[in-house]
Amino acid sequence: MKKNVLIIGAGLTGLLLAYKLKQQGIPVIILEARDRIGGRIHTYLSNQETPIEMGATWLGLQHKALVQLLKELHIPIYPQYMDGKAWYEPTSLSPAYEVALPPNESPSYRIQGGSISLIKKLAEPFTSEELQLNTVVTKIEAQETQFKVTTQNNVFTASKVVTTLPPNLLVNTIQFEPKLPENLSAISKKTHTWMGESIKFGISYNRAFWKDQDWSGTLFSNVGPITEMYDHSNSEQNKFALKGFLDSSLSSQTKEARKIAVFEQLKRSFGEEALSYLSYEETIWKDQKYTSTPYENYVLPHQNNGQAIYKNTYYNDRYYIAGSETAQIYGGYMEGAVQSAQTCFEHILQR
Ligand SMILES: Cc1cc2nc3c(=O)[nH]c(=O)nc-3n(C[C@H](O)[C@H](O)[C@H](O)COP(=O)(O)OP(=O)(O)OC[C@H]3O[C@@H](n4cnc5c(N)ncnc54)[C@H](O)[C@@H]3O)c2cc1C
Repeated sequence: MKKNVLIIGAGLTGLLLAYKLKQQGIPVIILEARDRIGGRIHTYLSNQETPIEMGATWLGLQHKALVQLLKELHIPIYPQYMDGKAWYEPTSLSPAYEVALPPNESPSYRIQGGSISLIKKLAEPFTSEELQLNTVVTKIEAQETQFKVTTQNNVFTASKVVTTLPPNLLVNTIQFEPKLPENLSAISKKTHTWMGESIKFGISYNRAFWKDQDWSGTLFSNVGPITEMYDHSNSEQNKFALKGFLDSSLSSQTKEARKIAVFEQLKRSFGEEALSYLSYEETIWKDQKYTSTPYENYVLPHQNNGQAIYKNTYYNDRYYIAGSETAQIYGGYMEGAVQSAQTCFEHILQR
């Protein structure tokens, strides 16, 4: 029997690894818990189809592996629109004031068509047998010559297994037999999942009214509920939106309450026209059960990302822990996911 690799998670790490293995003729199966691919890359297409990034959005030219991958796949990038004035609200006691945005020497870029373009491209070669959605892995059993991987409805066997879940989620939701080493579990429980606490929102409009008075669409606020916001129109400049982050402490409020507060804040800064929107979307990442699970103790942003322990392989070199948070450089970011997939790919090929 040809040796196969079973990859758990169809986010950027899992899909890129599978894509590269398939190019080498190595059989792969990807099991994904959600009913969609992409994981923390989730481009929402609203009614008017302004692609709204609920997850990963920006990259920089310093993200060399990601930039190179996008080039190879012929997926263009374009700079985040930052021309014009921004709003800054320092405290609730004083009104917001205008700030001129300085020229940015190292701009952030966005992926044309939305970050999902990258994910869709990587998923293209796979059949529905190879890439299975709605498949929640619950247990990984290392047997003498193979793995038995149990999902909610099925059992798979594989020569090698790669997990790509954020480490804290991995050790809290998947049972291992024999158990993973104690030090690996302990570090994983203290490994931060990048952006796992964030609330993202996006609002689409039929025109970029903020540009009428030279507003860039950027807003920074210590008052909230919006803490950060940017123009989110598409690269063709024919679909328009604003997108940003809400104060993460508002996750316990209702969506309606958050939405009312968001539009009050927008009206304060951009006037009545901010209320004439086409769609309002938000994602509370803390509640996304295939991304986040509570930590046992408080962890700092990026804590233990890229820990040396994630370089190890387990169960006689047949099990690999991958995923953005395991990457040595830019752990937590899309660049980390690409680097993690590449490192894992090289290990598997060498063996
Ligand atoms: C709100 C937000 C904003 C972000 N912004 C940026 C940004 O601007 N720039 C940037 O570079 N990065 C950003 N990131 C980070 C970026 O999204 C991640 O680094 C990257 O997408 C991680 O990819 P991954 O494949 O390693 O992990 P994930 O995308 O988390 O993939 C893991 C996959 O495993 C699946 N899974 C989980 N449990 C199971 C199970 N039991 N069985 C089967 N499958 C399972 C999940 O559904 C998921 O698809 C952001 C993230 C978020 C949430």
